[in-house]
Amino acid sequence: MRITYPRLGDAHIYGRLLFQEIGMELVIPDHNSQIGLERGSSISPEDICLPFKLMVDNLISAWEKGADTVIMPATMGPCRLGEYGEVLKVVLDRHGYKYNWILLDSISAIGLPNLKKRLVSIVEDSNCSRAEIVRALKGVYTVIKEFEKLEKKARLYSGYEKQAGKSKEIVKKCRRGLARTTSINMALKILEKGHNSIESLELDQLKEPIKIILTGEIFTCIDSFSNHNIEEKLMDMGVSFEKTISIGWWLDNTVINPLGGYFSNKRFNEYIPYRIGGYAKETVSGIYRFNKANFDGIIQILPVGCMPEIVAKSVFDGLSRDENLPVLSIVFDEMVGEAGYVTRIEAFIDMLMRRKNLNLYKGRKCYI
Ligand code: SF4
Repeated sequence: MRITYPRLGDAHIYGRLLFQEIGMELVIPDHNSQIGLERGSSISPEDICLPFKLMVDNLISAWEKGADTVIMPATMGPCRLGEYGEVLKVVLDRHGYKYNWILLDSISAIGLPNLKKRLVSIVEDSNCSRAEIVRALKGVYTVIKEFEKLEKKARLYSGYEKQAGKSKEIVKKCRRGLARTTSINMALKILEKGHNSIESLELDQLKEPIKIILTGEIFTCIDSFSNHNIEEKLMDMGVSFEKTISIGWWLDNTVINPLGGYFSNKRFNEYIPYRIGGYAKETVSGIYRFNKANFDGIIQILPVGCMPEIVAKSVFDGLSRDENLPVLSIVFDEMVGEAGYVTRIEAFIDMLMRRKNLNLYKGRKCYI
């Protein structure tokens, strides 16, 4: 069995580490690219959202490298991601890519015993004991969390660093190391070095950078190709920011939580009280963080065709109009031109700076 799954940010790095640790191989699709997106789009349903088209290309690329089994989360809606598994299978089967599919449906859809069976089938080719597999899973989870802690610090420090670009470089170096490393222990050492480097950065505490929340559709938030490397661009602009969605966050809230080990924030959300698919509710929850921690603005990113995030955008539009909330919503489409996005981000940051300087926040109505 040669396993693969679509690319999602650094998920292939973590997957490779895990499978290596338990004596299996993960087939990693090629990097997302414009050519790949065109290939994926050419056989995808026309009006499906952007991540689907990239995933089609990923799975063709993995097939060409010899993969025969796909692991795919499938939550049975309500947004399209829940049905991606089934639709991907139909599209790829029709074009001759006849994969075996292991769909990781939610417990409410298929029941815990069934889900366990499917999870066990993923590691059936491993010679490791159950204890060793669990240890590897825990190790990779630690790697994910530690790397995300490092990224979090880098996003915050980028607005304060004395030597511009240092925190970005540390994250990039660490990511390169993780992509090459052959064991979890080595990965943890790389991360330790990364944390030491970032903690020894020279920061200018007197700076008052623009602070924003970066939120939006999960795939776009995590995948740098889909968001045109927005994180690096913000760092280059000397902005301090927090990102609300990550792979570790998704694991906590989707994988670990349903298994009963972890209870996440189920706070009532007055703006979107019901689940409408994707993570629109979490996107809008950014407003609570915004009010609590003195941020200057919110950037919401979403791919073209995303239904839940359009609803979140309309909530932000209302808050922007009624409450003077500074929000920039960027819809990424299949076009490669970056100048338009960059100009809008620069204009938004510029506007936030002027607001900050004019101290317009004084007297802004607090609504939580
Ligand atoms: S959240 Fe949006 S982009 Fe993601 S699968 Fe759902 S509809 Fe598509």
